[in-house]
Amino acid sequence: METSVSLERALALANSLSFPRSTEITPLSLLNGRILATPLSSKVDDPAFDNSAMDGWAVRAEDCSTEGTILEIVGTSRAGNDQLPEVSTGQASRIMTGAPLPPGADAIVIVEDSTEEGNQVKILGPARPGYIRKQAENLQKGQKILPAGTLIGPAEASLVATMGHHEAETVSRPVIAVISTGDELVQPGTKLSPGQIYESNSYGIASLVEKMGATAKRFDVVHDNIEGLRLTLDEAANSCDAILTSGGVSMGEWDLVRRLMEEEGEPLFWKVLIRPGGPPLCGSWKDTPLFGLPGNPVSSHVVFISLVAPWLAGCMESDHELGPRLADRVRVRLTEDIKGAPKKLCMRRIRIEAGEDGMTASVHTHQGSGNIHSMVAHNGLTLLPPDTNGKEGETIDALWLR
Ligand code: AMP
Ligand code: MG
Repeated sequence: METSVSLERALALANSLSFPRSTEITPLSLLNGRILATPLSSKVDDPAFDNSAMDGWAVRAEDCSTEGTILEIVGTSRAGNDQLPEVSTGQASRIMTGAPLPPGADAIVIVEDSTEEGNQVKILGPARPGYIRKQAENLQKGQKILPAGTLIGPAEASLVATMGHHEAETVSRPVIAVISTGDELVQPGTKLSPGQIYESNSYGIASLVEKMGATAKRFDVVHDNIEGLRLTLDEAANSCDAILTSGGVSMGEWDLVRRLMEEEGEPLFWKVLIRPGGPPLCGSWKDTPLFGLPGNPVSSHVVFISLVAPWLAGCMESDHELGPRLADRVRVRLTEDIKGAPKKLCMRRIRIEAGEDGMTASVHTHQGSGNIHSMVAHNGLTLLPPDTNGKEGETIDALWLR
């Protein structure tokens, strides 16, 4: 087992663990939040035919070079109607947005630039070819549009439909066990006795799992006893693709996740040179990948975001650009001094704001790793290299959380 590894090394070691990825066919109406397993090509040209971008008149541009031209109205082109009038010299067809361009016409005059008198129309503005949406100007039939590994969101769902697909092959959601450990933990909604705290990590971690396109399976809290922990890990290994625990990975005598993994599991590494989130443990339990996240709520979030999320994205073979992720790397200017950490990559919570001269970062709450409010009051994490303090006015790397 390696100890005190850099985040890069931790990611490399974690990537030696994985679970078999499976795929399934998902109907279009359920694609939101799913990851494509195979690329999707368009089944059609989009637009499928030349059509008008505006309500107005389909005309021949050469007829309209002088303002006040009068044209004979030969019919109407409506969306969804295939009975198209032919537009010859000196003629115009009424046309609605999205309706096919009648043969003979090559430009559109918007309705605001016209007056209608009987079966004639007076043209008072320009005839624009640019108001015609040309066949296949958006998508060509057969063109590969969405790569495998794309996370389907609202725009992607519309695009899949536009391309003519009623279903798609997706990555089956892996099931990730979420297990909190600690004698002090009780469920919110009950009364706290002295020394107890509400169990919060499993809710946050399960939500992060879901945000990555996986399914979280929350287990009951495991108290600090090694038999109970062993049983729960066995059950999780049998029913889940990977296991996330929280708590019990520090140096203490009651840090049983670490002890059990060392004695009976296959640990790969323990402790990563990051702050917060120093003591995570990673390895496998009965051939199932396991991440032992720290108990401190901010630490467990930060370790998930920086280590577990990229690992999970890799296991699902998601696309680097278009797949699920929890953060984007950005450059931000510090509006105050921010302390780094000796020998550790320092990920302090910052509020990133887009101002007139770029993005700035400031601190708004106590930064303790026990203060989960700091993850809500802020929307980013500094990436201060080891032994580096951030100075007011300086521009640094940061993660902008999604
Ligand atoms: P541990 O690593 O088990 O020593 O936990 C470190 C700190 O995190 C302690 O203050 C614990 O009470 C707290 N903690 C551990 N697990 C949870 C949890 N599931 N929810 C909230 N706080 C926790
Ligand atoms: Mg504990």
